[in-house]
Amino acid sequence: MYCAILGKMEVTMRQAKGYYNYDRKCVECGNGFKGTLKQNRCSKACVLENEKYIKPYPGLPTGTVGAIQELRVSIDLMANGYEVFRAISPSCSCDLLALKNGKMFDVEVRTGYERKNGWVGCPNQGIRAKHLVIALPDRLVYKPVLC
Ligand SMILES: [Zn+2]
Repeated sequence: MYCAILGKMEVTMRQAKGYYNYDRKCVECGNGFKGTLKQNRCSKACVLENEKYIKPYPGLPTGTVGAIQELRVSIDLMANGYEVFRAISPSCSCDLLALKNGKMFDVEVRTGYERKNGWVGCPNQGIRAKHLVIALPDRLVYKPVLC
């Protein structure tokens, strides 16, 4: 089909309707691009280049990696004077309880990733605890900081 607006022979209905014509800003590199309303990244190549995501403990099952991350956080909390309690059931509302000076903190531990611009994130669905610890390969990020 010939499109009078774009002057091209091959135009999809989505292109003809302006589906990809929104001004967007890439969350990875910060460059502007034309895309859909939901599109946050300019290209796949940009994601791969900017997202410093290294799969931790390659070859190990997800559950084992999760357990390792919980134990890393437990060690960190204990080293900082907290008493740490671990959930018995995987469907508990938090992974760890940390106790210090009569204050109790419910803690969720997630394996996270970091972008070149310093942004740290993790899958955030189903988090019910008030305190999140994002486990990165080289450090732990507390959100918010326990006190
Ligand atoms: Zn980009």
